[in-house]
Amino acid sequence: MKVSVAEKCGFCHGVRNAISVAEKILAEENDVYSFGPIIHNKDAVERLAQSGLKTVSKVEEIHSGTVLIRSHGAAPKQIAKLKDKGLKIVDATCILVKRVQHIAGELEKEGYKVVIIGEENHPEVKAVVGCARDVIVIADKSDLHKLPQHAKLGIVCQTTQNPDHLGRMLGAMGRGSFSEMKVINTLCREAIKRQESAAQLCRQVDIMFVLGGLESANTRRLAELCKKVNKHTFHLQNWDELDKSVLSGKNSAGVTAGASTPDWIINEFVKNLEAYDDRSQ
Ligand code: SF4
Repeated sequence: MKVSVAEKCGFCHGVRNAISVAEKILAEENDVYSFGPIIHNKDAVERLAQSGLKTVSKVEEIHSGTVLIRSHGAAPKQIAKLKDKGLKIVDATCILVKRVQHIAGELEKEGYKVVIIGEENHPEVKAVVGCARDVIVIADKSDLHKLPQHAKLGIVCQTTQNPDHLGRMLGAMGRGSFSEMKVINTLCREAIKRQESAAQLCRQVDIMFVLGGLESANTRRLAELCKKVNKHTFHLQNWDELDKSVLSGKNSAGVTAGASTPDWIINEFVKNLEAYDDRSQ
């Protein structure tokens, strides 16, 4: 099988930083917790768990030690609760996510009704919601009814959203009755570059694989984009999940991976795919 790998794929600087911070603390301390999965990749989380990282979802589950705030961040109230318990906090929030959090707070201070375009249940969005008194989350056009008529809107976007989606949402909002729309571009260039190189590669191959966690928003976005262009697109977490029958009759494959997918997952997948020969099956 001829295999091509997207020019930009795999770990971004925010995820790389969170992993290296975790590894450093685990080398120095025994009682280390991650508040939510440190990144959205079960293989990477399992590997860190073997080194002692305990992943918890509630403040009540932690009674001692050091707490790592993951790359998606956490709401200030949650961080305050952890501090109140006397726990040591190590913040590995991506600086671009921190920027969205900061902007949300500033927009509210300036008198805007803060709006974030993104997925309501995604931890990054939940953390941003916690950074201002009243933040409205809109995922798509069906949510536009949540926006109060004639309001002054201060708009930000989940970092990993697709720029075309952002443009369509702003266009739809522009047709509304809002007296002002202040938009701050909070999209992540790393995520955009991954989307662009995936969209380019999937046009050139018989079959396309998008590797990464099923909860990873940026990986899901890559899979959605590729599926629109190449219907033979599969979102998998690793090589073991591949149903080999989908390779039948295919001569070329493309591989891309989300910003939270470790190199070793990508390399193993590519190596196995290159060596794959369906005549021998
Ligand atoms: S995808 Fe972008 S915003 Fe998200 S962690 Fe990586 S660098 Fe930060």
